[in-house]
Amino acid sequence: PYVEENNEKVKGPVTGSVPKGKEWDDNIGYFIKKRLRVWCRLPNGQWGIGKIQSTSGDEATVSLSSGTVIKVSTEELIPANPDVLEGVDDLIQLSYLNEPSVLHNVKHRYAQDLIYSKAGPVLIAVNPFKDIPIYGNETLTSYKQKAKDSPHVYAIADAAYNEMMRDEKNQSIIISGESGAGKTETAKYAMQYLAALGCGNDGMEYEILQTNCILEAFGNAKTSRNDNSSRFSRVVQLANGERSYHIFYQLCAGAPSTLRDRLNLKMASEYKYLNQSECLVIDGVNDGMKFHKLVEALDIVQIHKEDQEQAFAMLAAVLWLGNISFQVIDNENHVEALADEAVNSAARLLNCSAQDLMLALSSHKIQAGKDSIAKKLTMQQACLAIDRRDALSKFIYADLFEWLVVQINKSFEVGELMITGRSISILDIYGFESFKNNSFEQFCINYANERLQQHFNRHLFKLEQQEYEEDGIDWTKVDFEDNQECLNLFEKKPLGLLSLLDEESNFPNATDLTFANKLKQYLNGNPCFKGERGRAFGVCHYAGEVVYDTNGFLEKNRDPMHSDFIQLLSSCGCQLPKLASPSSQFGGSEPSMQSVGTKFKSQLFKLMHQLEKTTPHFIRCIKPNGKQLPGQYEDDLVSKQLRCCGVLEVVRISRSGYPTRMTHQEFAGRYGFLLLDTNVSQDPLSLSVAVLKNFNVLPEMYQVGYTKVYLRMGQIKLYMAAVIILV
Ligand code: ADP
Ligand code: MG
Repeated sequence: PYVEENNEKVKGPVTGSVPKGKEWDDNIGYFIKKRLRVWCRLPNGQWGIGKIQSTSGDEATVSLSSGTVIKVSTEELIPANPDVLEGVDDLIQLSYLNEPSVLHNVKHRYAQDLIYSKAGPVLIAVNPFKDIPIYGNETLTSYKQKAKDSPHVYAIADAAYNEMMRDEKNQSIIISGESGAGKTETAKYAMQYLAALGCGNDGMEYEILQTNCILEAFGNAKTSRNDNSSRFSRVVQLANGERSYHIFYQLCAGAPSTLRDRLNLKMASEYKYLNQSECLVIDGVNDGMKFHKLVEALDIVQIHKEDQEQAFAMLAAVLWLGNISFQVIDNENHVEALADEAVNSAARLLNCSAQDLMLALSSHKIQAGKDSIAKKLTMQQACLAIDRRDALSKFIYADLFEWLVVQINKSFEVGELMITGRSISILDIYGFESFKNNSFEQFCINYANERLQQHFNRHLFKLEQQEYEEDGIDWTKVDFEDNQECLNLFEKKPLGLLSLLDEESNFPNATDLTFANKLKQYLNGNPCFKGERGRAFGVCHYAGEVVYDTNGFLEKNRDPMHSDFIQLLSSCGCQLPKLASPSSQFGGSEPSMQSVGTKFKSQLFKLMHQLEKTTPHFIRCIKPNGKQLPGQYEDDLVSKQLRCCGVLEVVRISRSGYPTRMTHQEFAGRYGFLLLDTNVSQDPLSLSVAVLKNFNVLPEMYQVGYTKVYLRMGQIKLYMAAVIILV
């Protein structure tokens, strides 16, 4: 179809003539008035808003709001929303759901401390990096009483709670975003709300909130991106300016003298694991005081004093392990741990003999037929000895953490949540990552996010489907894109990324380069796979393409825990608190020989399986600047995150269905006046249909439901070509 105006013919999906002086309206494929507001890329890469002055050929002259006039290719112009839509609560309300409009709307709100917005079913939370008075009892109560409904984490928690009660179904709140974006804080506010709502007795509420303090002490650390970052493996190695888990510093600073004596505890500065990064304190944080708070919290969740002491002993053991050094002991260059205070203290705290510990650290087991023999490490293998020491430290810490989680959960088992048998899970998960250099860690993280994204897509699709069905429209015509193909690339057996990685990890002569070549050999041709030069390969994720460097992949994928090591440890009878729990890895059961990748996958599957039984609620946290400062909003950084955390994806998914929906009243009210034929019946539905017919909106561009008109989003570029010539 062609649109004719000023003797120019423009290809476009709209038919019929367009009255003079009308502007394009995406909702009905029509022009209403002149001088279209548009976004265009400025030479500095930022988005600028302006109005089209004139066009010639493929070029448009745009007068920017700043007063400057620039020439831009018409291809690159993107329609902007009218002023009245500035700063809407829900991005879906925008007439034009494009990247600059979304970005601008979120920014506009952020400038007024409105850190929360909705993107359809998703809550967007932009980290304010300062205290704003939108939390606490008063706000909490107004959400509880439905006096307030503006976007807020409380509103999400409230919805989760109500749906749990109404549908008798478990719920989940899935919080994702970059490091420092505010996931953990958001999770805490969600917990605060639920604790206030769900708990009949006040003690329980208090108890639930105390767990935050415990999990934070043991699970969080200072990094360069976040003073209080939730971390996993950082017991043994730290970058400059970063700290290990808070608990170590708290213990060293706050332990009373009797405990210090029993654990032979020194100050943090005396432990290599802590002093290597030259960062022992955090501005404005008193670790000693935090230790007292922690002990209070442990008491409140009813962890026995003896168990607490045992846990502290394990922490002290880890610190002493880090101080163990090695020396050459004979002329065959064999190395052995130095029998000093560090070895003796660690052994005593682990409840094993110093000899056993030294042997465990300075020998490795070699399989000789059916038997295995312990072989001393040599000078050349000294770094192996250090690796073993560090592996032991990490292992003890991981075990301790797991034990703690089990204890905390136990203390809630008598609670009301357990009686109703319903739950709300809060998932605080690292988001999609794309750096300059991406390694095995990003590979795993992005794989997990790809799975979560699929969960998200399917949920969104289900919601859409429900609405279409309820309104009596034919939803089979709605296509949704899925990311199954990318997941297949990871998971397919035997020719998927994870399988090929396992295969290569088991192959004695394999290197990172042979692995990369193998991937290229088998996966070239897969649309989600990109063979790159040398050791690199690319994956087309939902959030964009990421290039991975296979350097270290094989090593990281192999299980670092040696079985002989575990045996030695368990035989020396160290009393890890975890020994009390039946699932203990020290309990004598065979250590798993699964690769890290495969283990990650099976844990992810377990998690997804659990999530699939719940109604999900999504929160995407955004970090507005890299400096942890209030009031600073970096456009590029935010738009990258909006893309990565799937907010722009929501927009894109919505576009693939019928993103614009208006009740017949709204639609007829807005466009009915355009009807030339006044004979149409005046009920809103008939008016809507008449408008659509009158302006020859193509049948595949809309559907009419019982209560609403559903319109497809036009292919903006095609439409824009029409607009520019017409104005
Ligand atoms: P993440 O878990 O995503 O790495 P955090 O939740 O630890 O990030 O947040 C990092 C820091 O940002 C917090 O320590 C806090 O200073 C600040 N912050 C996050 N969310 C908020 C909020 N809603 N209000 C005020 N400050 C916040
Ligand atoms: Mg966190």
